[in-house]
Amino acid sequence: MQKYGGSSVADAESIKRVARRIVATKQAGNEVVVVISAMGDTTDELMDLALQVSPMPAPRELDMLLTTGERQSAALLAMALADLGVKARSYTGSQVGVITTETHGNARIIDITPGRVMNALDEGDIVIVAGFQGVSQTTKDVTTLGRGASDTTAVALASACGADYCEIYSDVDGVFTADPRIVPGARQVPRISYEEMMEMAACGAKILHLRCVEYARRELVPVHVRSSFSDNPGTWVTQLEEGSPMEQPLISGVAHDRGVAKITIVGVPDRVGVAAKIFEVIAENEINVDMIVQNVSKIDTSRTDISFTLPTADGRKATQALTAIQETAGFQELLYDDQIGKVSVVGVGMRSHPGVTAKFFKALADAGINIGMISTSEIRISVVVDAPEVDVAVRAAHTAFGLDAEGEAIVYAGTGR
Ligand code: ASP
Ligand code: MG
Repeated sequence: MQKYGGSSVADAESIKRVARRIVATKQAGNEVVVVISAMGDTTDELMDLALQVSPMPAPRELDMLLTTGERQSAALLAMALADLGVKARSYTGSQVGVITTETHGNARIIDITPGRVMNALDEGDIVIVAGFQGVSQTTKDVTTLGRGASDTTAVALASACGADYCEIYSDVDGVFTADPRIVPGARQVPRISYEEMMEMAACGAKILHLRCVEYARRELVPVHVRSSFSDNPGTWVTQLEEGSPMEQPLISGVAHDRGVAKITIVGVPDRVGVAAKIFEVIAENEINVDMIVQNVSKIDTSRTDISFTLPTADGRKATQALTAIQETAGFQELLYDDQIGKVSVVGVGMRSHPGVTAKFFKALADAGINIGMISTSEIRISVVVDAPEVDVAVRAAHTAFGLDAEGEAIVYAGTGR
């Protein structure tokens, strides 16, 4: 199973190059299934086009439109493969049985019935599947799985077909200890656990789609993240071996996310049920809340402040929804701040080693950075800092945990799409 991202098939020449790569894999004796993303920035362009036609395009029609991007690259790739003398057939997600929920724009895969894929493979064909799409079980309409979700298609299909592993090709060499465009001394990691990769993906590392990693972890599909522009080995995302002799580093990586915003609800009555009401409204609008902080209420007013972070993209929706309940919930004011970023350190090593938090916070303090909010999991510590300080915070953490590569720094280009 191989998946190629948009930057690997940006133009006709790249499609031919990817075709040659696929032929080489086939000639090495493998049965090959390929999941493909839309060419370059096609999905963004289609989205822009839709917004030019209509300010609020119907989600069903938007999915009809966006899925054509992947259909285009899949068909073109099949043509290029035919010219290289191999048999290949392209399919839409719906044709290969990617069955999803009915939520347009963000459907979840319920099941995959890969009969047609298996038949085509039996006949010796290379199978090309349009990523990021499926068909709703109930409405029978075409759905998309969320931005960047071709990764998820690939892993889900790998699992359904019983593939040995899933290769995800993009324009970066693998998973790095931090974004190499921010930290020149970032290093590629040869291996990372599903758990750590999930935390990294959830904390803004753009390399793999979060649901793809969740899927891989649940179905135990080994994922090899690598570059389509080189033959270098990439990063294996796999299960952590218990008692592995390999010394686990304390921290596996530093992730950052600029796409977060903070909402502060000022003067919330300190009564049972008020917080529930607030977050019900947020949930009804399908907004994912990340960190939440509630201050100790002031004795004289019995009111408290609640702050939480959310994706910047949902900022408008959230403030509108909350303003609508201001009176019934009885809070005094709503503050919105999107000039922030989140920086996280992730590593299974922190489970068994105390002092990681202290080290992280000390590094930030030494760099003169103020911490806005904090959240943790068993293997992650995240902080919110002011937007202009994100880069400095990432570098400070990377250095403090001894992750900087020695010698000449290598700067990689690319977007990791
Ligand atoms: N083409 C889709 C997007 O740009 C899906 C993908 O590339 O994974 O989000
Ligand atoms: Mg991607």
